[in-house]
Amino acid sequence: MRLLLVGPPGAGKGTQAQFLAAHYSIPHISTGDIFRANLKAGTDLGNQAKSFMDRGELVPDSVTNDMVKDRLTQSDVAKGFLLDGYPRNVVQAEVLREFLAEHKTPLQAALELSISADEIIRRLSSRRTCRACGAPAEAGATKCSSCNGTDLYQREDDKEEVIARRLEVYQEQTAPIIAFYRSEGILLTIPAVGSVAEITKHAITALSNLA
Ligand code: AMP
Repeated sequence: MRLLLVGPPGAGKGTQAQFLAAHYSIPHISTGDIFRANLKAGTDLGNQAKSFMDRGELVPDSVTNDMVKDRLTQSDVAKGFLLDGYPRNVVQAEVLREFLAEHKTPLQAALELSISADEIIRRLSSRRTCRACGAPAEAGATKCSSCNGTDLYQREDDKEEVIARRLEVYQEQTAPIIAFYRSEGILLTIPAVGSVAEITKHAITALSNLA
């Protein structure tokens, strides 16, 4: 299965990606997680990305596209992949399409998680992230449900002023990729409301009609 998730920040892409990747036994490739891991490790890539991430802006395409291509040439993607947080604009979507066409592994689905603006703000401002494994945590949780880590923190870019900018960036730059994938005939849209398990179920049902 080769698919990607698209939806505004706070739609639950990270959480759903974890469950769906496990369900289909494919790697979960989150560009945000890769950037954060590089930031933590103090690599050149992390330093290049930092100022953009802190402001809620997109990291330049040249940096992001090379990073994703590099990840997609690793051996574990032979059985498929789930991209989360990439592409974030139409240029990235075109680069991805070309790269996958060259490798004769076209995308099978772009799964859109659809959610209202009010709900996004509510979720993001209460969201916490596990410092040990990077998994998102439910509001009020004291322990990470993935690794049992107890150091849950608020991402710099989940603070209110940055959230507003991230939502603008989403509307201006990322939302147009929904029309891109609709015209490619591979867009599937599900409502990202209800429990995590219910949303996963909707996603698997929508994806089961493929291939
Ligand atoms: P995320 O965890 O997906 O919300 O990403 C966090 C931040 O990482 C974003 O606000 C961007 O600054 C950066 N980022 C993640 N994915 C991309 C991408 N595909 N293109 C550019 N910047 C990205």
